[in-house]
Amino acid sequence: MKFWEDVSKTATDAANYTVKKAGEFTNVAKLRYRLHIAETKLACTYEGIGRLYYSAVMDGDETMEAISDLMADVAEINAEVEDIKAKIEETKNKRVCPKCGAEIAPGSTYCNKCGEKLE
Ligand SMILES: [Zn+2]
Repeated sequence: MKFWEDVSKTATDAANYTVKKAGEFTNVAKLRYRLHIAETKLACTYEGIGRLYYSAVMDGDETMEAISDLMADVAEINAEVEDIKAKIEETKNKRVCPKCGAEIAPGSTYCNKCGEKLE
């Protein structure tokens, strides 16, 4: 399944890029980015199921196993999406350093990690 390998590679590259740029993102922004990747993966997986189902109907039952595999992927990615959404809600109310993204204890004037002065 070439299309799926391409999608996976794109998602992996994006994830690696996110890790590299981690210091420039807030935690919520990082989670939103991960959510975007997971949702893109989900959309592509659904599309893959559609294509395979079409082939299965046209050519017989050979592709049914591949469809089952993708359906298992959907369940897995859906769980990941829910997990990331929960983390976003959890993280939203926390203060983070605008410079390094570290979590900030209530009442702090400076970031414990990078020393940035906070407003
Ligand atoms: Zn900081």
